Amino acid sequence: MPNKKELAIATNEKLSKYSTFQIGGPADFFYKLEDTADLIPLFQFAKKKKIPYFIIGGGSNILFDDKGFRGLIIKIDTKNISLAPGPKGSILLTADAGVSIASLLDFSIKNDLSGLEKWVGLPGTVGGAVRGNAGCNGLETREILIEASIVDEKNGRIRKVKNNYFNFKYRQSKLKTTKEIVISATFKLEKRTVSAYEQKKMMAEIRQSRMSKQPFGASTGSFFKNPSKEKPAGLLIEKADLKGKTIGKAQISTKHGNFLVNLGGATSQDILKLARFARQAVKLKFGLILQEEVQILSANGLQKL
Ligand SMILES: Cc1cc2nc3c(=O)[nH]c(=O)nc-3n(C[C@H](O)[C@H](O)[C@H](O)COP(=O)(O)OP(=O)(O)OC[C@H]3O[C@@H](n4cnc5c(N)ncnc54)[C@H](O)[C@@H]3O)c2cc1C
Repeated sequence: MPNKKELAIATNEKLSKYSTFQIGGPADFFYKLEDTADLIPLFQFAKKKKIPYFIIGGGSNILFDDKGFRGLIIKIDTKNISLAPGPKGSILLTADAGVSIASLLDFSIKNDLSGLEKWVGLPGTVGGAVRGNAGCNGLETREILIEASIVDEKNGRIRKVKNNYFNFKYRQSKLKTTKEIVISATFKLEKRTVSAYEQKKMMAEIRQSRMSKQPFGASTGSFFKNPSKEKPAGLLIEKADLKGKTIGKAQISTKHGNFLVNLGGATSQDILKLARFARQAVKLKFGLILQEEVQILSANGLQKL
């Protein structure tokens, strides 16, 4: 019988390194998952130790706790991408959950494909995008996802599910309740019809427009979901006169009301206090209760704002 593989599980790994907020204390246990087959032994490890586990991708939509996490963090770092012919001359691109959106886009461009251009500058991984139906510039994950492989932690079974399985809505999918883990996803792209120059120019324009609206600095992008298209959270926060509001080292961006920025050395409590302050101000002024888009992971598990 082959020897059981030893999993190199790190201890006391600082989570700030894995979060675009650059905030977060040590996780008791931490594993960079490069091979999906390691998931089952990791589940067993957590079960045996009676600790929770939490999946992360690019950490671009998570606020970790300064106290870290009393459990196992599994960072999905699988990297395969492949192509296959799709229906009506389309091309199916299948990417592992750990592939960053930036790499996905690069790969598609290098292979003369079109369809992902609007995602230029979108942080995070394929897995995170599927779970949260991420998107920007009028292109959401649900519009190009054909199917995905997901795993159920209860039995470790991997299965392929079609787009309609996910019940996608604005920044929503079924996975937020089922907690299933995305292993890989298949997107429908097209062969590029414009010149490579035109394609690059279009992407440069999109990137430029994004950069002009969004602040630099450590953030998780939009902290709150937009209550509606007509009432984006950023505008409500701006109208509550909160741009530039600072608590500790956390600031509501002066450029975009929905971006909470770590000015350098912000604590998780600074961010939470600022977010609650903004939520309260918007409630008082507009009677609307903002819901956080960001996942808030306390030392003992997910929490609400
Ligand atoms: C500067 C900036 C701009 C942004 N702009 C946008 C934007 O325009 N549009 C937009 O939609 N988002 C935007 N975001 C938010 C973020 O990029 C997305 O939410 C992204 O999809 C998160 O992916 P991730 O891999 O970083 O997920 P993480 O932050 O690592 O995780 C987020 C959640 O997804 C879960 N998760 C991660 N991987 C998997 C997996 N394989 N299977 C199951 N669950 C998983 C985690 O458990 C967690 O609950 C922005 C963020 C930043 C920092």
